[in-house]
Amino acid sequence: MNKHGANGFAAQSQQALDDTALQSALGHAQSGFVKKRAQAIAMVDEFEQLKANAQAAKRQALANLAPLLEQFEQNLIRNGGEVHWAQTPQELNATVMAIARNANGRRIIKGKSMIGEECELNAALESAGFDVVESDLGEYIIQLAKEPPSHIIAPAIHKTRQQVAELFRQYHALGERGLDAISDLVGEARTVLREAFLTADIGITGANVLVAENGSIALVTNEGNGDLSATLPRVHIVVTSIEKVVASMEDASLILEVLARSATGQHMSAYTSFYSGPRQAQDPDGPDQFHVILLDNGRSEMLGTPFEPMLNCIKCGACLNHCPVYTNVGGHAYGWVYPGPMGSVLTPLLQGLDAALPLPNASTFCGRCEEVCPMGIPLPDLLRQLRAQQHEQKREPRRWRWGLTLYSRLSRHPRLFSWNLRLSRAMLRWLPQRAWPNQRTPIRPSGDTTFLEQWRTRAQNGLKNAAQNGPQQGK
Ligand code: SF4
Repeated sequence: MNKHGANGFAAQSQQALDDTALQSALGHAQSGFVKKRAQAIAMVDEFEQLKANAQAAKRQALANLAPLLEQFEQNLIRNGGEVHWAQTPQELNATVMAIARNANGRRIIKGKSMIGEECELNAALESAGFDVVESDLGEYIIQLAKEPPSHIIAPAIHKTRQQVAELFRQYHALGERGLDAISDLVGEARTVLREAFLTADIGITGANVLVAENGSIALVTNEGNGDLSATLPRVHIVVTSIEKVVASMEDASLILEVLARSATGQHMSAYTSFYSGPRQAQDPDGPDQFHVILLDNGRSEMLGTPFEPMLNCIKCGACLNHCPVYTNVGGHAYGWVYPGPMGSVLTPLLQGLDAALPLPNASTFCGRCEEVCPMGIPLPDLLRQLRAQQHEQKREPRRWRWGLTLYSRLSRHPRLFSWNLRLSRAMLRWLPQRAWPNQRTPIRPSGDTTFLEQWRTRAQNGLKNAAQNGPQQGK
């Protein structure tokens, strides 16, 4: 994670804006996501209905969270799997290590998992002496670069092709070769990772959905790495969180349909798999052990609060791709694993408001995030509520507090307010261009009169016209 965490947002954003390689990587990647999502949605007439059904399924699941989780556990045990409960990231990490040690496992291949990132699982495993290799290409790249992910579905979105080639040359002892084309890079990663898949004792993956009615987990990837991590090693460990459970396969398919379209603009992810337990006698392959670890880490405390809708998030990343703040500063500026609008809500809720003071304000409130969110999460409203909490707890920066107090006093005295508007207008005209940050267009008043002055003139003219025309009837 970023060493200054979310509280370093302002400085980290400035750094990101000054980083030309990052700006070029962000520009290329982001526009692709937006276009593909729009095309995929335009091809489905009933997308609004699909979204409404997925939202209803998730709402109902949250309303019955405890019984559904119990049903999931019972069914998974019946299938031969094991369920473990973790209140905190430390408990999750300790459980993974205990399972790996009991199975005499040392080499671990890992599929992409945001819960793994939230728990800093790799660091915990490596410091305990395990060999961990990330199998998702993006995660593998940032593992080599020793960086956190900068996007929830495209972890290495901040890297240019040239930067990836440099990393591969540094870490793969494969002699002189051409790494100019993307296909060269993908081919090399495939060769290196194949060895890791074949020699791993333990496979760790995340889960996109948990199905209570049959104890299955759904896993989607576009590289097939999740399936290789789940089926080749002797032990499959799934690290996931409690809010992912839904009642039925039908509900799971609703979520998967909106997820693929919103995330990558696909009708379905290239590999959409369901895993229900360890290998059975008649199965040609699969792991001998199947474990699911369910993390809470503050999620159950969100139930029944105004922030409960955040538990509907399916981590599609659409709000990031459409956010004018995220698309300019990238993910690392946010200082923790969840960036963009969803991260600005989730980080203060999971890490505490004090650990993420700038995030509720890391928004232009343009509303695009809510508009594109397939789960209808009212992100701007949740950010506003976090701001209100900050204000009530007097946690916002002192200069903002002074500004707000001044504004509230002025707005209670119309004459003073109006006088202040005129003064501000004059000052904006006078303000030298370079006093405004480089990245913004300087604000200039658009006319000679303020809104209030125009309103007053119109009202006066309206009265004059009414007096000249006499009373109007029949309207
Ligand atoms: S908040 Fe909505 S748009 Fe953003 S990641 Fe979650 S589900 Fe996707």
